[in-house]
Amino acid sequence: MRNFVEPSRTLPVRAEVDVLVVGGGPAGIIAAQAASGNGLKVMLIEGRSYLGGNLTIGLPILGFLGRKGNQIINGLPQQFVDRLRAKGGATGHRPCPLHVSLTMVDPEKSKDVAYEIVKECGIQLLLNVFCSATIKSGNTVNGVIIESKAGREAILAKTVIDCTGDGDVAARAGAIFEKGNKEGGMQPPTTMFSMRGIDIPKLRMEVAENPEKYDVDIIPNKFFLGDQNFTFVGMRKLIKEARSKGYKIDVDRTIIMTGMTPDEMWVNMSRVCGVDGTEPSSETVGEIEARLQNYDAARYLIDFVPGFENAWIYKIAPFLGIRETRRIVGEYMLTEEDILACRHFEDVVAVASYPMDLHHPKGGDCTLTWCEDCYDIPYRCLIPKGLEGLLLAGRCASTTHEAMASTRVMSICMAMGEAAGKAAKLAVLSGVMPSKVDVPALQKSLLSEGVYFRPKE
Ligand SMILES: Cc1cc2nc3c(=O)[nH]c(=O)nc-3n(C[C@H](O)[C@H](O)[C@H](O)COP(=O)(O)OP(=O)(O)OC[C@H]3O[C@@H](n4cnc5c(N)ncnc54)[C@H](O)[C@@H]3O)c2cc1C
Repeated sequence: MRNFVEPSRTLPVRAEVDVLVVGGGPAGIIAAQAASGNGLKVMLIEGRSYLGGNLTIGLPILGFLGRKGNQIINGLPQQFVDRLRAKGGATGHRPCPLHVSLTMVDPEKSKDVAYEIVKECGIQLLLNVFCSATIKSGNTVNGVIIESKAGREAILAKTVIDCTGDGDVAARAGAIFEKGNKEGGMQPPTTMFSMRGIDIPKLRMEVAENPEKYDVDIIPNKFFLGDQNFTFVGMRKLIKEARSKGYKIDVDRTIIMTGMTPDEMWVNMSRVCGVDGTEPSSETVGEIEARLQNYDAARYLIDFVPGFENAWIYKIAPFLGIRETRRIVGEYMLTEEDILACRHFEDVVAVASYPMDLHHPKGGDCTLTWCEDCYDIPYRCLIPKGLEGLLLAGRCASTTHEAMASTRVMSICMAMGEAAGKAAKLAVLSGVMPSKVDVPALQKSLLSEGVYFRPKE
């Protein structure tokens, strides 16, 4: 690739704030909310034209409950769900043998709730602005450079929280990061879509009564009789049968989940291996390929899965869903061993339980590995190694490839967002860098919001 030397120039400073949150997905919305109050100037910037990130692509929130059925994620993430429920935009948390717990949410109402929170908390919001660089003095991040229709501008901040999912801010600031497994393979992306016109009661009855035909992973077939909210993962025999009849299906399992409308289900059945979500040419290939795969998946569902006979494609998610890109190396890197040992940490700021749910980078099947109860996420996973003035929350926090397969689900990203937001607030109020925040004071403030910490054995 040839290089171009950009001439230096003077940029307008659009804003000077106490806490700047970059990325308005599940982690970023909650981080901004947690950082607000006490007269602090908090700003949230988002590259897309709306808030929500992956909350808007048709996914249930997984993992509010733990393996033992108790609620392990509470605090501001729960308040978000409560607000959604009040608008008819979310179900309760349904325990699930495969996914620990499912909470169906409405993508559009999720955006509305995010806007309500931003307004109520006095958070300055900028949509359609992309963070393209950081402003630093030595190893300290003092703000970011944004690009938008208004051109290139600076935002100065005492503390920045990277909630971009991809760790864009930390990477631009020179953080150490990893991508993928030992060979660099990342979990493949998927474009979600929904279908309507589905006879869901028929589907539930058929599956419940014919376990040999409709093989479902881990979940007993009769589970589907009990509640109208569910995710089916399996039906491998049907896929084999369809393939033998010439249908092109790129995944071995049927993954479909109920939405918030009685005849609607979301489909998670495209997969494009080898896509790097931080490389635009690669992402472009993924966007097009996943979209095309979805038409084949819809044809398969209509022709083979009971209840789908009269279904049609209703919505296609607005963007390719990226499961994995950069994982920023922090003061501590959460591992698979930590999760399996249900490890406690002195600097716990969130508790999680979701299994390591790995869609393998080269394709083939998907594996889920559960811990027996739940595990702690230490504050050090939110502090990028060697950088000051910056915190991490969400998918880009400091974990191994395997551990991220658990921490990536939205309830856990929200919980990390709450911890990072509260830490940023404490850092500003006490005039210290995030790495020097008084952790017991941070824990106390999280507890006062209703966050759950496990009793030590
Ligand atoms: C196909 C798929 C299925 C999944 N299934 C589930 C599921 O069923 N349940 C579940 O709980 N989780 C699921 N996940 C995981 C989960 O959705 C994500 O890991 C989670 O949303 C990450 O949250 P986040 O806030 O870190 O990032 P995101 O949700 O990705 O939000 C990041 C936000 O930052 C913005 N942004 C990014 N870069 C910049 C920049 N440079 N400047 C400005 N803004 C920027 C983005 O536009 C986005 O709005 C799934 C993921 C995928 C892809």
